[in-house]
Amino acid sequence: ARKFIVGGNWKCNPASAKEANSLLKEWKKGLPNVDKSKVDVVICPPALWMSTLAPSIEGLGMEVCSQNVGKTDAGAFTGEWTAGNLLDLGIKWTLIGHSERRTKYGETDADVAEKVGKCQDIGVNVILCIGETLEEREGGKTDEVNKRQLGAVIPKVKDWDKIVIAYEPVWAIGTGKVATPDQAEETQAAIREYLKSAVSAAVADKVRIQYGGSVTPENCAELITKPNIDGFLVGGASLKPSFMDIVSKVG
Ligand code: 13P
Repeated sequence: ARKFIVGGNWKCNPASAKEANSLLKEWKKGLPNVDKSKVDVVICPPALWMSTLAPSIEGLGMEVCSQNVGKTDAGAFTGEWTAGNLLDLGIKWTLIGHSERRTKYGETDADVAEKVGKCQDIGVNVILCIGETLEEREGGKTDEVNKRQLGAVIPKVKDWDKIVIAYEPVWAIGTGKVATPDQAEETQAAIREYLKSAVSAAVADKVRIQYGGSVTPENCAELITKPNIDGFLVGGASLKPSFMDIVSKVG
């Protein structure tokens, strides 16, 4: 059985470090008694706060996860940080290829693959985000898009234990329009089937696939009953005290 994994992607929120600290204090008060052998929890704060918030996040039994990472080693790359910089700070996780990076900052499949390669070289765990737009879903292209986004990365992966896939349909991100449990299950089963044919049955069986897109404490319980949903990547609802309800419903 695959261990569940829940991520809280804060994006560029909250507006101040003070608010971030008070959210973590709220979580500490309501900390559910989750079985850590059943669920991993990673929190992705804005990059500037990763180090300062790390002790509080780790004190909750959770790990810090970057929202992004550069595709190069150290050098003249203003505004970037490297996979090595993350490890140097004790940060063992990063998101790569979030749809906001792809659509708002022009990240291509090739960029995403290079970033994954850098993380694989030094052993940083990656949550690889993939997913289709509404137009692509309505055009019947969902599986094709996921295969393309995942397929670009496969040649870079040597250690699948350090890869988690987050299926995040773009039309469900921040819209309140959650995929139905059947829609998410069908798509995630197809992603796993693709891993089986493109990599191996053993890899397909062990890689964890999260669902992301308008996940809330209310809708997560039914989603998590589906066999190909191994956890969630949560945006808006991870900025609330009730994020702990999602963690406890999974764990
Ligand atoms: P929402 O949960 O706000 O829809 O965001 C999902 C997301 O993008 C997580 O990475």
